Amino acid sequence: HTLGTVKPLARLNARPLVHTRQHASHKGSYGDVAVIGGAAGMTGAALLAASAALHAGAGRVFVGLLDDDALKVDAQQPELMFRSFRSLDLSSMTLVCGCGGGPVIQTVLHKVLTSQSPVVIDADALNEIAKDSTLQATLSARRGQKLATVLTPHPLEAARLLAISTHQIQGDRLAAAQAMAQRFGCTVVLKGSGTVIACPEQTPVINITGNARLASAGTGDVLAGMVGAQLAAGHTAFDAACRAVYQHGHLADTWSPELALTAKQLANGGPSCG
Ligand code: AMP
Ligand code: MG
Repeated sequence: HTLGTVKPLARLNARPLVHTRQHASHKGSYGDVAVIGGAAGMTGAALLAASAALHAGAGRVFVGLLDDDALKVDAQQPELMFRSFRSLDLSSMTLVCGCGGGPVIQTVLHKVLTSQSPVVIDADALNEIAKDSTLQATLSARRGQKLATVLTPHPLEAARLLAISTHQIQGDRLAAAQAMAQRFGCTVVLKGSGTVIACPEQTPVINITGNARLASAGTGDVLAGMVGAQLAAGHTAFDAACRAVYQHGHLADTWSPELALTAKQLANGGPSCG
């Protein structure tokens, strides 16, 4: 099996993001993020993504947890607004993460992928797309409508999406990211050491920030939230992905050497931020 022809590599045109608010702006100026996910046992993933989106500058963040028994407030993060996932307003940027493998994902994904909003799809939702050709067609149709779509697979999720082995993915990560971008007509962030960002219209890039301290639970959810905030702020899918991936890695590179990196602190912007 061949992964196809590799285009040249572009220089990642990014630098650390500085949070600024324009003087006469209001929360609506920075966009809303709707996080949908957090199945039973995975609610932390949705909360981490939501927290990261908030700290990355989103104006408002809504959370629709799939676990009906989960609490409807996070006392540690009272800024987050909880809604039923059934009634979550998908007219703003929508991020799907921490869905588990339950039967409800298919319906959720159909709703999200047919919405006109920018979307980020992560983790089990990607595995569901890998299994379901109808969802794949719905996903690809977004390209024709010029709707911003970002997939954030790690190598195993990528292997499922392309129906090849993880070994093949890792053997040519650049080609793999481009193959997924072509196949699904969207921006793809192939995570791991040397994260690749590809989309059909752009020369792909390999991110230069980040390190193995990111190899811990929840850091991928944080990245999804950061991409969501950049999309909510109005960046294109490719730019949003590049900016977020760079920033995520930059935070890890500037982490205090004495402290372990946790996803919660990463979402908050660094080890000194609680
Ligand atoms: P996930 O696999 O979904 O939990 O996401 C893990 C996150 O950490 C992704 O953003 C990866 O790119 C990043 N990451 C994991 N391991 C490494 C590593 N060895 N070097 C750089 N980044 C890493
Ligand atoms: Mg993950």
